[in-house]
Amino acid sequence: MIKLKNIQKILEEYPPKVKKNREKHMVVKGLDEKHEIEANTRTIPGIITNRGCCFAGCKGVVLGPLRDVVHIVHGPVGCSYYTWGTRRHKGRSEAGEDNFLSYCFTTDMQESDIVFGGEKKLREAVKEAYELFKPEAITISATCPVGLIGDDIHAVARDAQNEFGIQVLAFDCEGYKGVSQSAGHHIANNVLMRDVIGTGDAETGKYSINILGEYNIGGDGWEISRILSKIGYHIVSIMTGDGTYKELKSAHKADLNLVQCHRSINYIAEMIEVKYGTPWLKVNFIGIESTIKTLRHMAKYFGDQVLIDRTEVVITEELASIEESLKIYKKMCAGKTALLFVGGSRAHHYQGLLRELGIETVMAGYEFGHRDDYEGRDVIPYIKMDADSRNIPELQVTKDEKNYRLYLSPEKIEALKKEMPLSRYDGMIKEMKGGSYIIDDLNHFETEELLKKLKPSLFCSGIKDKFVAQKMGIFSKQLHSYDYSGPYAGFKGAIVFAKDISMGMNTPTWSFITPPWKKIPMLEGKIVKEVGAC
Ligand code: SF4
Repeated sequence: MIKLKNIQKILEEYPPKVKKNREKHMVVKGLDEKHEIEANTRTIPGIITNRGCCFAGCKGVVLGPLRDVVHIVHGPVGCSYYTWGTRRHKGRSEAGEDNFLSYCFTTDMQESDIVFGGEKKLREAVKEAYELFKPEAITISATCPVGLIGDDIHAVARDAQNEFGIQVLAFDCEGYKGVSQSAGHHIANNVLMRDVIGTGDAETGKYSINILGEYNIGGDGWEISRILSKIGYHIVSIMTGDGTYKELKSAHKADLNLVQCHRSINYIAEMIEVKYGTPWLKVNFIGIESTIKTLRHMAKYFGDQVLIDRTEVVITEELASIEESLKIYKKMCAGKTALLFVGGSRAHHYQGLLRELGIETVMAGYEFGHRDDYEGRDVIPYIKMDADSRNIPELQVTKDEKNYRLYLSPEKIEALKKEMPLSRYDGMIKEMKGGSYIIDDLNHFETEELLKKLKPSLFCSGIKDKFVAQKMGIFSKQLHSYDYSGPYAGFKGAIVFAKDISMGMNTPTWSFITPPWKKIPMLEGKIVKEVGAC
């Protein structure tokens, strides 16, 4: 089987130990029934992984987008500098509100702080930040050296909280914890759930929802909110793109939680359900069909005929507004193929949109997905915990007798579960076509080999891969930063994405990669015999 041969050829290049490890991270859809994949395990040293660290997952992904909070990075300057403005979680404030997103706060630890401890400097930094900015709250994120030298960031946070009267939250997200960004998501979820959600008492309206795991990259969250507000939903909080600490406090008061990125926020979704009774719905606002399906599921959950009718009106209006453009881009994309390698959710979310445009996904993988993101949540009880995962605390929550409430009866919920992904996620593999590859924690060597063998028209990945692919003559679209474009979510976003990739794949630039003298000779001449030379 040619598909398997491609993978075996890649694996043959590895030493036996590495081969044994990497083959467990590769699956060909349809080869067996189970499609079991190894994921969320330690990265092989020296393999040139695309992964980041726990700090990046905690501060960079989950906490960073909260715009009314000062996020202090406790560590040497690199960790904060390299995460300063590089993730495009946009945020705008109403008049009179704070927005600290353009700042980068760090304790800038020096050698003396490593030797004598950095707590004193951290205390001063928190004080200075409070006095200068008077934020709603302050977070302290630990970086690698902090855990090693034993700085007690929790004691600093506790003292500062008592002194200044605002919440100061400490996160033990040292970069070496876990095996990737994923550990940082979990740590951030735990603290937000334990200390923030449930402490507010904002008024909520009819059809109230939270949007979880939506980080407003390139304005995605704004496009989703535009559609939902047009239908009539009341958005209580967004976790966390253009989100605020103030709104997050009352998240327990919504009637439904939408989960866009399952990987980064499923912990909060699950804990809110246990503690406050609010179910979560796995949604996907990437792609036109997925957006429509999501909107219909939401309307059905609330079950109100006015809402159901309004949803259909909005869908019709939105479709009419994009119809013409869609036709153009479908023509430009038809028959192409794509490879997707993105963090923990987009490699799945974009497959439907690509399919709608006529592009087949032949390989997809996650940097830091877990088995449930690939195979569905049913496998969670069978996932073996290793030493790296055991280090991340599991927060146990129980029913909050005062605030627990059910919007729908348990019988109604059970009935709806059969019709929509309510408190359920089936993972990426299920929706993929037979014969496609699923590869976890793809590395540089594997990327190059797959690009050579599969020759896709489009490679969706990140900044570290982009120029490798483009130097090979393959258009690469960054699906983390959107190549500084966006939004890509919702109806309008689908058109922006279609336009961007149509332009990228069809630009005349690709025909100039091979210099003309390598295709046809540039000099013409012939050998003439010299006759009668003297
Ligand atoms: S691995 Fe450590 S040093 Fe590197 S960015 Fe993460 S926290 Fe900072």
